Amino acid sequence: MSESLVRLLSNFVDGRFRDPDGGEYLDDLNPATGEVIARIPRSAASDVDEAARAARSAFEGEWGRTNSMDRAALLDKIADGIEGRADELANLESQDSGKPIQLARSVDIPRAVANFRFFAGAVRHDSTTCHSMSDALNYTLRRPLGVAGLITPWNLPLYLLSWKTAPALGVGNAVIAKPSELTPLTASALAEIIDDVGLPAGAFNLVHGLGSEAGQAIVEDERVDMISFTGGTATGAVVARTAAPKFKKLSLELGGKNPTLVFADADLDLAIEGACRAGFLNQGQICLCGSRILVERKILDSFVTGLVERVRDLEPGDPSLPETRMGALVSAAHRDKIEGYVSLARDEGGTILCGGSRPKLPGRLARGAFFQPTVVVGLSPTCRTSTEEIFGPVVTVHPFDSEEEAIDIANGVRYGLAASLWTRDLVRAHRISAALESGMVWVNTWLKRDLRVPFGGMKDSGVGREGGWLSLDAFSELRNVCIELGPLPYS
Ligand code: NAD
Repeated sequence: MSESLVRLLSNFVDGRFRDPDGGEYLDDLNPATGEVIARIPRSAASDVDEAARAARSAFEGEWGRTNSMDRAALLDKIADGIEGRADELANLESQDSGKPIQLARSVDIPRAVANFRFFAGAVRHDSTTCHSMSDALNYTLRRPLGVAGLITPWNLPLYLLSWKTAPALGVGNAVIAKPSELTPLTASALAEIIDDVGLPAGAFNLVHGLGSEAGQAIVEDERVDMISFTGGTATGAVVARTAAPKFKKLSLELGGKNPTLVFADADLDLAIEGACRAGFLNQGQICLCGSRILVERKILDSFVTGLVERVRDLEPGDPSLPETRMGALVSAAHRDKIEGYVSLARDEGGTILCGGSRPKLPGRLARGAFFQPTVVVGLSPTCRTSTEEIFGPVVTVHPFDSEEEAIDIANGVRYGLAASLWTRDLVRAHRISAALESGMVWVNTWLKRDLRVPFGGMKDSGVGREGGWLSLDAFSELRNVCIELGPLPYS
């Protein structure tokens, strides 16, 4: 992209688009070409300070006095705004992250719209509990927390930002959002949409920049009451360490190393298709991706043959073409990390059945961060490749002989985010679902999302749950009010 076409992004603070205080910018690259497509503010603590001041004053002022029906109407208008710019946003998301345009069009952007619409409905239909005693009445008031800091990763940029922004605003909090420095474009577009919709100044603030600078400053700021963070487990630990002594409310959605369990009684074709999709959608860069495939030994050969056949069809290509199903990884650095894991897999005794190297792509894609989808067999389920989060297009396949062994392997990692299992035996499905150490379990499907259900992980995959009413709770202070009634004539 020529210099003149490089976008210059701004922060959005107190209802205005602003340059960063220090005047410093970071390059934002299209990972499919290596070209600079934007420059984003490298915000410092002083930019976050201004955002926190604006957010606090919005919360204590006009925004704090809005009622829930008006806020729901605003969320619907934001959804309309995203829908109205859906094509443009899908293009931005694809250029920024390297994901196939078809995926951005069919998943990322529609789901961002759905998140705003869903939480508009949730806020409209919200109710709280009442507990009656013989001489008193308790009722629960939902109050906003104040200022919510929303920190998001690069893999589903607008989707995850909308998943937090909609309930946070819906409950009445003011927001400071910090998107990933690798994928800032759609967050800036969201700020424009929110500006058009006309939220009071300071209700939504966007601060771009590095996690260790802008992100850290948000977590440290005393005026930020709550942090909702989605990202890597190691970063989550830093966020938790910083926020805990300040007693901020925390929601942490972290990494995963999710198992796909395939039993011999499963519909083999469906299981192969499901495992392939779970392993490689978005180049394997979804926290819910199934990167460890556990297969009952009786069907191991036929499963692996079918899987490799399908995976070979997933040729990486130009993300901007509608037929492309496998795009670029988010950055060259991330591709290097994945390559490192493939070389570790070889050292650990694994056999690469397909992929394992960079594809050769023509023209402007030649310098892109592409990697072939890779299937590894022959590894111990306890080695590093099989237990550490790779977050890319690499799956390992492991045989098992019994249900107990399958559960042991599935649970034998530090993570506990999601699992999918493939079987026709419904009783077994219930039994295993209960035994898996996992926040979410899919049976004979993967990634089917109902926005009302709890979303989140256990173990090192996170703390807390969002989704449906739980999102409203995550962004609320629930206050019990107990009213003494005295002896009642009818008690
Ligand atoms: P990351 O942890 O590197 O960054 C996430 C965000 O945190 C970015 O905005 C980054 O700038 C910011 N950040 C970094 N250091 C910070 C600090 N000290 N204080 C505050 N903010 C800081 O993660 P990533 O590489 O962007 O995303 C990939 C990871 O996210 C994977 O581990 C993946 O599993 C996880 N993820 C989890 C979920 C989930 O719902 N559980 C969803 C998507 C991604």
